[in-house]
Amino acid sequence: MQTTPTAAMEAMLCLPPLHIVLEAEALMAAYRLEISGNGVTTTKRGLHTEIFEELKQNCILNMQSDRIGRDIIFHKPYRVIVPKEGEEDSHIPIQQNGTTWYTDGSKTEQRTGAGATNRDPDCEISINLGNYATVFQAEITAISACAQEMTRRSYTNKRIQIISDSQAALKALGAVEIHSQVVKDCMDSLTKLAEHNSITLKWMRGHQGHVGNERADFLAKKGAEVRLIGPEPTCGLAYRTARRVMKDLLREKHISHWAKVPGLRHSRMFIGEQSWNKSKDFIKLGRNQLRWIVGLFTGHCPLMRHLTTIGVKNDPDCRRCGEEEETSLHILCECPALAAARYSNFGAITIEPKEVTDAPLETVLKFLKEPGLME
Ligand SMILES: [Zn+2]
Repeated sequence: MQTTPTAAMEAMLCLPPLHIVLEAEALMAAYRLEISGNGVTTTKRGLHTEIFEELKQNCILNMQSDRIGRDIIFHKPYRVIVPKEGEEDSHIPIQQNGTTWYTDGSKTEQRTGAGATNRDPDCEISINLGNYATVFQAEITAISACAQEMTRRSYTNKRIQIISDSQAALKALGAVEIHSQVVKDCMDSLTKLAEHNSITLKWMRGHQGHVGNERADFLAKKGAEVRLIGPEPTCGLAYRTARRVMKDLLREKHISHWAKVPGLRHSRMFIGEQSWNKSKDFIKLGRNQLRWIVGLFTGHCPLMRHLTTIGVKNDPDCRRCGEEEETSLHILCECPALAAARYSNFGAITIEPKEVTDAPLETVLKFLKEPGLME
């Protein structure tokens, strides 16, 4: 309905209001300026400095960034081979005077790890990268780690193959433009190793049962399992992690905005706190179903009380029982004429609004369907 409050619909669909979206974009722009060294340094207070202040108060966004100013490197002293789709070959020939290393990165819900191994069972590397590193950073770190190990071993005149299952990592190491410190450091390690060796980085599809790749995967997971001892972040904060943090911040701002919107007692009763999972269910509904659900949850639907308020009808009482005003609270939770339908769907003859909020959407729709409420 035209009268339906926007804030309530935004809360249901988890759609942050425009002013909050703009605030988050301004914060992201400030972050980009800050990590490129162009942040505001003045102590004079004003709107712009407040944005930078907010940035400084966020402990994650305040971490050292992985982003660096664009660096261009045309010639690299190593080869990168990423086969085209369908041309991949998991057979890695052992070359004369050659050594083959397998690398991998892994991320659990909590932590990230990098792993590397060669066919010599004595050499296995497992690194814990803490909570903030991305899988991409782990894949690159694994390649760096094995290059550094080979340099430490003073490898000379060897034909080195480094196998990774990350196309993104290999493409970044083969690219002309560099934006990441982790990638730059890895390039430096490879360049140093290449002074006395020939290096080929090769892509292999992961999780295909290849012994070397499986072992590197195991080592990366092992790295991710242990708790980090030492300061975070282990490598600079990836730009995409900063974006994710910003997205969480946007959600937090929306939650606190919804909590502060004055009035809307009825909507708040049924919508509760924003649920991103539920908002996806709402969006999947058909037009008529969504109209009714939004209407009932906000109280702005063709029920007698609302129709009387807007002057279309003049009797607010329930058409089914006549005992109370016909509001969505009455229909969904209390009306005795709908007790049987309520019992068969919600398991009780009267229920609390929170039970409607917490129930699967299908249950609410089934309840509305039975007594022909949506017709
Ligand atoms: Zn009734």
